[in-house]
Amino acid sequence: MTEAKGLRLLASGEPRPTLQVFFLSMPTTARAFGTSAAVNPLAPMSIPRREPGPTDVEMEILFCGVCHSDVHTARSEWPGTQYACVPGHEIVGRVTRVGAKVTKVKVGDIGATGCMVDSCRTCSSCRQGLEQFCTSGATFTYNSPDKHLGGHTFGGYSSAIVVDEAFTLRVPKGLDLAATAPLLCAGITTYSPLRHWKVGPGQKVGVVGLGGLGHMGVKFARAFGAHVVLFTTSPSKVADGLRLGAHEVVVSTDAAAMAKHAGSFHFILDCVSAQHDLNAYLALLKLDGTLTLVGVPEQPLAVHAFSVIMPRRNFSGSCIGGIAETQEMLEFCAQHGIVSDIELIPIQQINEAWTRMIKQDVRYRFVIDMASLKA
Ligand code: NAP
Ligand code: ZN
Ligand code: ZN
Repeated sequence: MTEAKGLRLLASGEPRPTLQVFFLSMPTTARAFGTSAAVNPLAPMSIPRREPGPTDVEMEILFCGVCHSDVHTARSEWPGTQYACVPGHEIVGRVTRVGAKVTKVKVGDIGATGCMVDSCRTCSSCRQGLEQFCTSGATFTYNSPDKHLGGHTFGGYSSAIVVDEAFTLRVPKGLDLAATAPLLCAGITTYSPLRHWKVGPGQKVGVVGLGGLGHMGVKFARAFGAHVVLFTTSPSKVADGLRLGAHEVVVSTDAAAMAKHAGSFHFILDCVSAQHDLNAYLALLKLDGTLTLVGVPEQPLAVHAFSVIMPRRNFSGSCIGGIAETQEMLEFCAQHGIVSDIELIPIQQINEAWTRMIKQDVRYRFVIDMASLKA
């Protein structure tokens, strides 16, 4: 057992904090892109990864999707960001080493990691397969306390990762690997609430916002047999919305077009990353209809009481999905030929990609080709 101290984070051009950390064996170093402050762009840095323990899986990261949550976190739009921050939780990789007790994958397999790398595994949520709601707090892939190395976890904008096999996903054969990466967050975050609220044939279902989450929401709602209506603020996305599976597309800035759908929806999935008027969408629900919010804008969103009391309507939220459900979602995607529509980028273009995503100019998920990190 080795005890190491004084690990240095190598954020280029920034003050170099010295972390006092304790771990079971000497970590290896991975190349990464991250930021050392909310106002800084992402830049190359080195991060530690633990030596694989008996139940650990080490992966060389091949592809990592770019989620809007990466921006919210790295720029401290949500509270609690620890720096240096290395985002990325849509990870597909090749298994390079496994611990002696690992049975789920073997060296050379394609594996994946989503938004979580651990949880307590014993609380009522964990026992139900809802690790994201672990009552002790799930260990998220980045910006969570690191139980092994001390400090906090670092995400997938990096060359390698080590994850317990219980939080490692298997990637079914036949899926395009780059386009599979976004399934690990955008996919499960939309699949899970659509399943929870039993979206299916005979239902009119809305999806709000055609970004990374929204385009997966459209694909899944269509695959589940619902009549799908996409709401977008971008007239340039109407044709894509229909191509991706929506039966109808409404440009939400058109008040008359919105009014035609008043009181008619069974379910609406709100995937918007910025401030917007929830009441405009609650008004589209039928009696006992449900709006589920998965987008997480920086500021609170106002809900007028009349939007939910008259007629009786449900306003709810949802957070990613558990590990078993994520594996189920990957199998569903393999069976139905569903992957994300992506734009593959080298990691050197990540700051530009973030700027474009914030400007609603992503079609429909950026994915980083991690081979570029070696360049
Ligand atoms: P994204 O790719 O940037 O998509 C967001 C979409 O929202 C945009 O494409 C745009 O669609 C719409 N939008 C953006 N700004 C808007 C504005 N000012 N007014 C109205 N609509 C606007 O983001 P994402 O990666 O899909 O993530 C969406 C949100 O979900 C983020 O807040 C993210 O943090 C959150 N998230 C939550 C979970 C969870 O577990 N609950 C998981 C992952 C992500 P149109 O151009 O079509 O209008
Ligand atoms: Zn995400
Ligand atoms: Zn738990």
